[in-house]
Amino acid sequence: MAQLQRIAIAPSQIANGQITLTCGQQHYLYRVLRLQSGDRFIAMDGMGQWWLAQLKDTVAVIIQSLSVATELPTNITLIAALPKGNAFDEVVRCSTELGVTCIAPVLSDRTLLKPSPQKLQRWQRIAQEAAEQSERACIPTILPPATFNHAILNTTATHRYLCESRGNHPHLQNITPEISVPGEIAIAIGPEGGWTAAEIEFAIANGFQCVSLGKRILRAVTAPIVALSIVTAALESVAAN
Ligand code: SAM
Repeated sequence: MAQLQRIAIAPSQIANGQITLTCGQQHYLYRVLRLQSGDRFIAMDGMGQWWLAQLKDTVAVIIQSLSVATELPTNITLIAALPKGNAFDEVVRCSTELGVTCIAPVLSDRTLLKPSPQKLQRWQRIAQEAAEQSERACIPTILPPATFNHAILNTTATHRYLCESRGNHPHLQNITPEISVPGEIAIAIGPEGGWTAAEIEFAIANGFQCVSLGKRILRAVTAPIVALSIVTAALESVAAN
């Protein structure tokens, strides 16, 4: 099944055992992927459900529901200050591949970017493509950009970590036994200029623990990849035992 193409569909496209394909999906399946009527592909609703489907003109007939077990056992929210330019595209792509459930872009005190309204749609499309590519059952939710304080106050996670490149903080790797305790995880990554003292204080006052990712200063794009790799490795090794 792994070699079949996966495409995300909306649950509203399914009726009477068929998926009504949008013009964009037909173009992608027939023109880009060069599939033909009768060929099979995997349809995913981005909320945990996969189906094996067979193309038939402008619809796809559902052959069977598939079980998929590629999601992490714990929800992870990445709170990330927006880096300059298009760098957040890479944050969305990589963190989706690594298994995040939710991405919260934040405008912090030192954020330089003022995102255009089209950015959210662009990030949602990148997350969808990355979820298809990495065989995820779920597509992460991308929240609209919000202030740092708003993101911190709206965190529901039980385990909250603020990655901070300066200071003598415990390494995230050493915190991982705590992560195996059931709950949800939030990880916050700062912008190129780092967090301000006021932001760090506010996060700590709201239950965040400062953590290190090592002695080297990582780029705002590299830091989420490193933090998520540490956390997902810990979660998956606990789940495997
Ligand atoms: N200009 C900041 C400085 O000199 O400290 C560096 C900011 S860094 C480019 C962007 C963000 O990545 C930081 O705010 C932090 O969240 C995260 N980060 C980078 N390296 C880190 C490290 N070694 N430990 C913890 N967090 C790190």
